[in-house]
Amino acid sequence: MNKPAKPAPPPASPLQLEQALLLLAQSGRAPPPGDAGSPEWVQALIDGLVELSSRDALTGLANRRAFEMTLTREVDRVARSGESALLLVLDIDHFKRVNDGWGHAAGDEVIKAVAAALLECVRPMDLVARIGGEEFAIILPNCGVAFGEAVAERLRRRIEASPVTLGSRETIAVTISIGGAFAPQWVRSTPQLWLERADQQLYRAKAQGRNLVRLEPAAVPVVSAEEKQLLFDSFQLQDHE
Ligand code: GH3
Ligand code: MG
Ligand code: MG
Repeated sequence: MNKPAKPAPPPASPLQLEQALLLLAQSGRAPPPGDAGSPEWVQALIDGLVELSSRDALTGLANRRAFEMTLTREVDRVARSGESALLLVLDIDHFKRVNDGWGHAAGDEVIKAVAAALLECVRPMDLVARIGGEEFAIILPNCGVAFGEAVAERLRRRIEASPVTLGSRETIAVTISIGGAFAPQWVRSTPQLWLERADQQLYRAKAQGRNLVRLEPAAVPVVSAEEKQLLFDSFQLQDHE
């Protein structure tokens, strides 16, 4: 006698999305809205994952991968358009002392506080990234060579003037060193070369005493007072002097 055929299992969904949803939830993000499994919902889930993969988990800043993508785009844009763009690399001074003196968790708090302060000091169009442990980079498109020094100097002063208060209510004075270089205009270059040039300037700032800004010398064109005003209005920089 033939056994009765077992009922076929329900067709398995070809999409295995549990892990993706779990990743979003772990990072504190809401699941995509709408009908689970619909094309719009899946697209929103993909968008959420793309966003997650471009952020640094500790600070919420752009991570190294997102930074390198933007740097590549920017170096091409400047080569084609001839516009001026500045790359700054920033490194917290004597950070090992923070970890050694207050512990790794306090070090993390300092990194987060520096990240937040840097974000407050730039325009929405600028990209602030955490590219290493206590190293940051900022890509400033459309930043004329006449303004580079002032922009970097304001960032340096802002950090110097904002000691970090820990959860324990202790305060830690923090300084950063900044190196910078402008993208070569009208010339084909590479993001690696641009980053190396900015890094050389950071090295110079460290070697010359730290808590310093060093930019690669560039020809400074004459800029009108009106142009200066326009740029600094849009930077929304706050002086903490
Ligand atoms: P310098 O002024 O020359 O930059 O001195 P430094 O002490 O800051 O030297 P360095 O930049 O080499 O030190 C980086 C230290 O940052 C070493 C490492 O233990 C620590 N670090 C790297 N990533 C993290 C992190 O995510 N959290 C914490 N708390 N520490 C980190
Ligand atoms: Mg470092
Ligand atoms: Mg350091």
